[in-house]
Amino acid sequence: MSSINVRRKTLVSVASDPNSSAVTFAGKTADLASVFGNHCFSEAVQRQRLPEKIFDSLQETIRSSKQLDSGIAESVAKVMLDWAIEHGATHFTHWFQPMTGSTAEKHDCFIMPVGGGKSIARFSGSELIRGEPDASSFPSGGLRATFEARGYTAWDPSSPAFILRHKNGSTLVIPTIFVSWTGEALDMRTPLLRSMAALEKHALKVLKLFGNKKSNRVFPTVGAEQEYFLIDRRLAALRPDLLVTGRTLFGAKPPKGQELEDNYFGSIPERVIGFMTELEYELVLLGIPVRTRHNEVAPAQFELAPLFESANLASDHQMLIMQLLRTIATRHGFHCLLHEKPFAGINGSGKHNNWSLMTDDGENLLDPGDTPHENAQFLFFATAVLRAVHLHGDLLRMGVSGASNDHRLGANEAPPAIMSVFLGGELEDVFQQLAHGTATSAKKLSPIEIGVSTLPPISRHSADRNRTSPFAFTGNKFEFRAVGSSQNVARSTTILDLIVAESLDYMAGQLEQKLGGGKDFNVAVHEVVSDAVRAHNAVIYSGNCYSDDWKNQAQRRGLPNLVTTVDCLPLINTDDSIKLYEKYNVFSKSEADSRHEIYSEIYIKTINIEAASALEVAGTMILPSALNYKKTLVGAATTVLQKELLGELDKLIDDLIKQLRVLKESMSKLPEGEALKAAEYCCFKILPAMQLLRETVDGLEELVDDELWPLPTYTELLFSR
Ligand code: ADP
Ligand code: MG
Repeated sequence: MSSINVRRKTLVSVASDPNSSAVTFAGKTADLASVFGNHCFSEAVQRQRLPEKIFDSLQETIRSSKQLDSGIAESVAKVMLDWAIEHGATHFTHWFQPMTGSTAEKHDCFIMPVGGGKSIARFSGSELIRGEPDASSFPSGGLRATFEARGYTAWDPSSPAFILRHKNGSTLVIPTIFVSWTGEALDMRTPLLRSMAALEKHALKVLKLFGNKKSNRVFPTVGAEQEYFLIDRRLAALRPDLLVTGRTLFGAKPPKGQELEDNYFGSIPERVIGFMTELEYELVLLGIPVRTRHNEVAPAQFELAPLFESANLASDHQMLIMQLLRTIATRHGFHCLLHEKPFAGINGSGKHNNWSLMTDDGENLLDPGDTPHENAQFLFFATAVLRAVHLHGDLLRMGVSGASNDHRLGANEAPPAIMSVFLGGELEDVFQQLAHGTATSAKKLSPIEIGVSTLPPISRHSADRNRTSPFAFTGNKFEFRAVGSSQNVARSTTILDLIVAESLDYMAGQLEQKLGGGKDFNVAVHEVVSDAVRAHNAVIYSGNCYSDDWKNQAQRRGLPNLVTTVDCLPLINTDDSIKLYEKYNVFSKSEADSRHEIYSEIYIKTINIEAASALEVAGTMILPSALNYKKTLVGAATTVLQKELLGELDKLIDDLIKQLRVLKESMSKLPEGEALKAAEYCCFKILPAMQLLRETVDGLEELVDDELWPLPTYTELLFSR
């Protein structure tokens, strides 16, 4: 059977499959609230099952972010084992987030032989607290040589254990950090936890200065909106480029893309909502509070948004959401694409990181609040964020860099690579007044007598929207919109926490100094805030961030425009970056160096895999099809116009052969040694060679007999379901 028949037959089966829209699942229930967190060893389960003393001690451990006391580990493990077995678990695993960008797990069976041909289920306290995976196969960026490859995992009790189901059983999953024996972070969670600690310390200092006596803890909250594409698995299987790289390396522009804007918030297709229902059910069992689902802008694109949670829990849940998106999509005959740019010419996918600061008594520090005092405190925190983005926009950009996100950022669609802050009309007005003199009134409001007399009242949730801004204030939180759909949200959150911690530290220092000098509190707050706004005003921008005008203006304002990952890689471990990390104990120098090495390597490998996949598809699928088509034309072309067509085809085929050679040769010349050189080479030599090849292949797609075309087209991928 020739390839054409396979593609066409597949399309027919996708269109006529009666089962494709009717996958049902066992756990169906309308009462999601009653099953919420059932598969999570939550506080409620702990309270119900643990002896009171042990429960109190565990809660204390969680509250104080300490490691679990080995004295209680045995009791906790025993109760956890019973609970897990009741839920059908046969194995346990320490689940961690190595720097591959995904999660890692190695399962161990509970079964322990006890002699006499018998065995019992066992799970010890030490197995709960600590694991020792062979770390040698995870990226370490030189943090440890293979001969001393040992790393260990340790339970992070602030993230509860849970049960992960598969078709034929269940596993008890214990969220852990992953560090080397010398204590260096080999994962994404450890730096996140450290950044949270730094942020908490300095936020508490500020709260104390504002007279807050009731809050004991401050933590960043994160609500990460996840965009993704769903395409039919049977069609995906015919696209090796999609399977290998997560994106289509070829594909001519379809007659219809997103021009009509008819997909956004459109009615969700039957088959997709069937998938979403099962996905949400599984997420709810895990205690992941999914809230929103809708069609996105591009055809076949969707979004899921959970309710915000404490940053480390939110980032764990984010990883689980991505994992379950993939596995449950498969059950429904879909292939889920989390890549930032699976299709050229239509929108890519992001993961908006909604970020705020919350106290343990439930105060959102980025909510303007109802009283003048709250307003002043809000302005202080919001200004600290503004300052952080201005001073460290480059790090923020670095924290979302990567080969796949480069296709979004700066590509006139997603927010640009220039980091600016959108505040919304009213707040921007307040900030401009603070920068240029006295701010005593919010827009359209007459000045009123307030406790912090020199600062204006601000109404709540007043922010309007600007979808082109990478960093927007949205009423009671900031929305960092440059994060990529496939990224671990822990990475961008770590940078955000770090740079805001630095800002709060600095501004608290300024405030203390002024107070120490005998200044009135209100005056001192006003001065610190105005000084900071004046110094960092340049980062505020409310216009169209996609425009060329903004690029020019941003340059005049001195804002960095780090267009590609190659621009970002050096920033990971500059002296200044390392100084900042070390001051707030987020990364050591060797950890920063290791990240530089790892992210460079991932970038280089990603592009080389893409190039190899492009060679394979264009060389062994497209070229033969084009030559076959030529065969049919050669005998048939009799008129001038027909011969012109043949000439056009000949030219494209020759171009294709030449471009295949160029790409192959450029791949063979990848510089060895210094990683940055190789990364630059990938960016400026290999990617352009791939792009040229793509243009030729896409040209051929528009010319070659559809019967002979081997790859499902954009129309077929995006509109068949
Ligand atoms: P919109 O839909 O207008 O963008 P939503 O209020 O629905 O805004 O929030 C979008 C995302 O922001 C959700 O994931 C939500 O949980 C999250 N979010 C809301 N409040 C906060 C907060 N205080 N901290 C972090 N994330 C938040
Ligand atoms: Mg949003």
